Amino acid sequence: MEQIYTDILIIGSGVAGSYAAMHAASLGANVSLVTKTKLLSGSTPLAQGGVAFPSDPNDIPNHLMDTVNAGRGLVDEYVSAAILTDALAQLNNLISLGMNFDALPALEGGHSKPRVWHIHGDESGLHLLTFLHSQLPNQVSTFENHFAAELISSGGNVHGAIFWRDGDPDKPVAIHAGSTIIATGGMGQIFSFTTNPDESTGDGIALAYRSGATVRDMELIQFHPTVLSNGGLISEACRGEGATLLNKFGMRFMQKYDPAGELAPRDVVARSIYGEIVATGEVCLDLRPIEDLEHKFPTVFNLIVNLGLDPLKSPVPIQPAAHFLMGGISTDEYGATSISHLFAAGEAASTGFHGANRLASNSLLEGLVMGSRTADKAVECASTTKYNFKSNGVAGCSKDSQPVIRKVMANAASVIREQTSLAQGFDDISKIEVGPAKNAIEAETANMRLIALMVLKGALEREESRGSHFRTDFPETSQVAFHIGQQIDLSCAVRD
Ligand SMILES: Cc1cc2nc3c(=O)[nH]c(=O)nc-3n(C[C@H](O)[C@H](O)[C@H](O)COP(=O)(O)OP(=O)(O)OC[C@H]3O[C@@H](n4cnc5c(N)ncnc54)[C@H](O)[C@@H]3O)c2cc1C
Repeated sequence: MEQIYTDILIIGSGVAGSYAAMHAASLGANVSLVTKTKLLSGSTPLAQGGVAFPSDPNDIPNHLMDTVNAGRGLVDEYVSAAILTDALAQLNNLISLGMNFDALPALEGGHSKPRVWHIHGDESGLHLLTFLHSQLPNQVSTFENHFAAELISSGGNVHGAIFWRDGDPDKPVAIHAGSTIIATGGMGQIFSFTTNPDESTGDGIALAYRSGATVRDMELIQFHPTVLSNGGLISEACRGEGATLLNKFGMRFMQKYDPAGELAPRDVVARSIYGEIVATGEVCLDLRPIEDLEHKFPTVFNLIVNLGLDPLKSPVPIQPAAHFLMGGISTDEYGATSISHLFAAGEAASTGFHGANRLASNSLLEGLVMGSRTADKAVECASTTKYNFKSNGVAGCSKDSQPVIRKVMANAASVIREQTSLAQGFDDISKIEVGPAKNAIEAETANMRLIALMVLKGALEREESRGSHFRTDFPETSQVAFHIGQQIDLSCAVRD
């Protein structure tokens, strides 16, 4: 097997992984930045809205308050204050490196003032990530089309990972590292309807869990309310500019559910749309009230036109879709997991910043700030031990199980949940056979299966409704907020 030695291994080249790579290299470390597809991959390039930064040091307490309010009692205020306090330093760093933000910050849902910075209008994520990649120095070696199949772990330590070049187990590459950072993004692909790209199969969370890392709150998944049938997201900013939601009879309905109407919090709008679709069969977004739609929202306009629809002539059908994971690999404010030399940053991590409901545009912010904080700690704590690794084998499931997983999750664990269908879903997914993976797709499918079980188990255990998690049989929010640590038995219950 090809052997590579590096100071810092970063799995995932989205905003969190790429910024961590820049930062670790600036501290003098040799870095390997690895992605299972292309460097420009993951959710980051799809982000339309932008990055939220406190407008100045005096705004940090207000930004914190907005984050806490959105998070419905589960935001870790200590970690969040640390992230927001570091945010302006990262903004200044990006500007000093030549990053061009648009002239003025925008106001987005849940923010008490304009503080969301866009880059090239609604193409923020694409331009941010392209810029970060342009800044990677020579000490960062990049590896595309390398699928992380297994962590090199022993006795509560992680020393790197085994990759399959081109997704082929017969082309293994071992990258040994002093510290390993998981930045593999989210897991929306376990649902039949999602805004997330193909890469979002929860691989890093599954790898960390199999190595013994603590994973928590996997049931806390944000559903974006307005998504087209091709998975294209219609930004909240469109409703901010006057777009309205109409039911099958062409009637506005949001006032019935919330006095803020179309500008109610994301979880409320998603549930209202879901309810109206069940009751009347369809919900459409009418974008005609927006002046100059083509130029204000070019990405949205093109997504709709690509579906053969004309948003200037008629309302377009939308529905809620799985969008963002608030739970994940549990970390502290420096990205440290419960396993030595293993770190996590970005959407794969659960720092406590997003609570039970993420505030708009806080995730690119978290990716940047936690990318740099995690890199600091990973460099400081890098181990020098060399470890001879023996593979435990990589779990795989037939690719044909993917539509099964997606259908079960859509029925059991989307916007509205209850005990019977969650338990049935857990049972159905437990029955999917697991064996040795013959390729990366089979390994991804086993990861999706494990992640789906985590979501279902967490949703069953969370006998309350909070933020994005709504149980019809437990509609109230518990007085005391609590986290749910994952305890899926890998050895027998799920045969993984
Ligand atoms: C359509 C859309 C719009 C959004 N809009 C906004 C917004 O406006 N503002 C905001 O703040 N947030 C937004 N979000 C959320 C935000 O974009 C993501 O949370 C964030 O970009 C995640 O960054 P990340 O670095 O953690 O992961 P990602 O950007 O998802 O990157 C994950 C990386 O991991 C790699 N990877 C995964 N598995 C493996 C493996 N097994 N082996 C090797 N590599 C692997 C992938 O190839 C990829 O490079 C949006 C999300 C979506 C989907």
